[in-house]
Amino acid sequence: MTIQHQARKRFGQNFLVDQHIIGQIVAAIGPSADDNLIEIGPGTAAITEHLIQRCPTMKVVELDRDLVGFLTEKFADYPDFSIYSGDALKTDFAQFHDGRQLRLVGNLPYNISTPILFHLLKNRTLIKDMHFMLQREVVDRLSAAPGSKTYGRLSIMVQYHCRVMPLIPVPPSAFRPAPKVQSAIVRLKPHSTKPCLAENEELLSQIVSLAFQQRRKTLRNGIRAYAEHLVGVEAVVDLSRRAEDLSVADFVALSNYINQRILSKK
Ligand code: SAH
Repeated sequence: MTIQHQARKRFGQNFLVDQHIIGQIVAAIGPSADDNLIEIGPGTAAITEHLIQRCPTMKVVELDRDLVGFLTEKFADYPDFSIYSGDALKTDFAQFHDGRQLRLVGNLPYNISTPILFHLLKNRTLIKDMHFMLQREVVDRLSAAPGSKTYGRLSIMVQYHCRVMPLIPVPPSAFRPAPKVQSAIVRLKPHSTKPCLAENEELLSQIVSLAFQQRRKTLRNGIRAYAEHLVGVEAVVDLSRRAEDLSVADFVALSNYINQRILSKK
């Protein structure tokens, strides 16, 4: 079955057409029959039709109702396949947890890639891994190391929760219509044991945000809102360093120090 579907800009639709790339993506995911596999934004099923062969119980979440109709028909012979019609940003992914951790897959609209990542990370303990097609620039930011130009809040907050593995570069010609930007497949694997643990993740996030508002200034300047809690902090982190040069572990140590100071004043 084929579909004459006019790609809709408002749903960020760029459909994969390059069978070689699709094959590489499916191989990278390596789906198996007992996976709790969920695809977000299956579209015209370019990836789905391969995944479902190996995992007939897979689920999909699709926003475009026309495509939901198409998918329902296309996979009518798969009784264990489920379609959730709706917005992935408003979907409670915890509902899919059935004792098996989730494996999430998606070639998502690029304008919602960061919000969806943060939405999914709320349920990180329920997630085994995620394979996403993103703008290559976003993949670079996700995987950036300290000192690099693309290193920032996104790198730190995602690396705090996940191991980030850039996998497959994908050119615009792999899609119809072709996007203006380069893309890449990235694998995110939530840490089962975090390499470093923030006592207060909200505080970590606030400190990282503040510090990167002026990424080239010294940390002392960037986080001066916390000045009263910084007495003695030099034993943990050198405040004359710049935000862009601190590792995830440095930020966690800094936020734990400030957290202890705040608690001791209560
Ligand atoms: N995975 C397909 C389609 C990619 S286009 C392929 O690779 O060819 C992006 C898909 O995400 C479209 O099907 C679009 O309708 C869907 N989509 C867009 N916003 C969404 C949202 N908020 N929640 C779920 N699906 C969404």
